[in-house]
Amino acid sequence: MGAAEQEETFSDIREGIRKLCARFPGAYWQELDAERRYPTEFVTALASEGWLSVLIPEEYGGSGLGLSAAIAVLEEVHRSGCNGGAAHAQMYTMGTLLRHGSEEQKARYLPKIASGELRLQAFGVTEPTSGTDTTRIRTFAKRDGDDYVVNGQKIWISRAEHSDLMVLLVRTTPREECAKPTDGISVLLVDMRDAVDNGLTIRPIRTMLNHATTELFFDDLRVPAENLIGEEGKGFRYILSGMNAERILIASECIGDARFFIDRASAYAKDRSVFGRPIGQNQGIQFPIARAYVQTTAAAAVVDRAAALFDAGVQPGTEANMAKMLASEASWYAADMCVQTHGGFGFAEEYDIERKFRETRLYQVAPISTNLILSHVATHVLGLPKSF
Ligand SMILES: Cc1cc2nc3c(=O)[nH]c(=O)nc-3n(C[C@H](O)[C@H](O)[C@H](O)COP(=O)(O)OP(=O)(O)OC[C@H]3O[C@@H](n4cnc5c(N)ncnc54)[C@H](O)[C@@H]3O)c2cc1C
Repeated sequence: MGAAEQEETFSDIREGIRKLCARFPGAYWQELDAERRYPTEFVTALASEGWLSVLIPEEYGGSGLGLSAAIAVLEEVHRSGCNGGAAHAQMYTMGTLLRHGSEEQKARYLPKIASGELRLQAFGVTEPTSGTDTTRIRTFAKRDGDDYVVNGQKIWISRAEHSDLMVLLVRTTPREECAKPTDGISVLLVDMRDAVDNGLTIRPIRTMLNHATTELFFDDLRVPAENLIGEEGKGFRYILSGMNAERILIASECIGDARFFIDRASAYAKDRSVFGRPIGQNQGIQFPIARAYVQTTAAAAVVDRAAALFDAGVQPGTEANMAKMLASEASWYAADMCVQTHGGFGFAEEYDIERKFRETRLYQVAPISTNLILSHVATHVLGLPKSF
């Protein structure tokens, strides 16, 4: 099967994304990277052309397509050399609101999120002391009249400075007073426009990639109680389905990255001549490219399956985890292979390889690290004893 054949699914979507991405070439991303600037123009283009509202039902102004269509969007963004990390949360974060919000909340927010008028790009879960152990979050929302008063700290909250709304995970009952550790956690929709400098402070964190990630400090931030999504204390369950969508979407970005690296390495290996022949004629160069292709094709099949299960109404926790792990490992192998194929030029900023290499490394850590996925499979699927 040739590479072109792989792209037959959602070819209209892929074609549309390729056209959009052609307006944002490598030079655009290189400049942003150097300045650590957010790709506002790119995100605005994606939103205004409706690509970020693929998962929002038509009655709320979206295109009402499934995750299988959404993964085609993000895969193609990444294959084109762009990066969806600045925008992808707009696709899945609204799922919590869609599935668990009141009719009134959905009618108020979803049409504006679909049109791009409101940016819902921030998802506040991780905290410095709890790490991956989400039930130990400490950010606390105490009910006071018609408001919740929020105190605490979050870390690695991406796009917070470029978002109008944030889905925020808080404790509303201390862990020790709950029957189960997952009880007593709630979801609030925070209007960032009111919150910043009014109880919420945002501090950017500079990282090895241009990702607009931040630390958040809550000091008596008042959030109207009407912004509670679903029932108080049930929030942990609400965000799990959103996390499955997130993992599958991010897996598709990894598949896009891997295909970007394979495309670039194949082209370079045919073109670059050393010792009087193309470097790609050497099996030492062509086998790693072929291996990357094999691994990526296998990972993509698992990503497609996870998306199809999600669209069928199943919550595919295990498949979403496996898809994310396989895809992030395939993209990392392909990234390393691509640098090696390019020799010294793999390190030159103008080739975009080193930027994509840095970008794709993230996905073995976020949004969930590989060890935690292996632990899920070991205990939930294979019935091995829990280690923690
Ligand atoms: C650039 C970036 C953007 C991010 N964006 C967001 C965001 O928008 N919103 C958000 O909420 N979070 C975000 N995150 C946070 C991300 O989800 C976490 O970093 C990730 O889940 C890992 O958590 P941690 O960093 O606390 O690692 P830790 O939980 O401290 O783990 C550190 C390492 O130890 C391993 N480990 C931990 N416990 C075990 C165990 N029991 N057995 C074996 N190994 C273990 C982990 O696998 C990991 O490799 C972002 C992170 C980064 C770096």
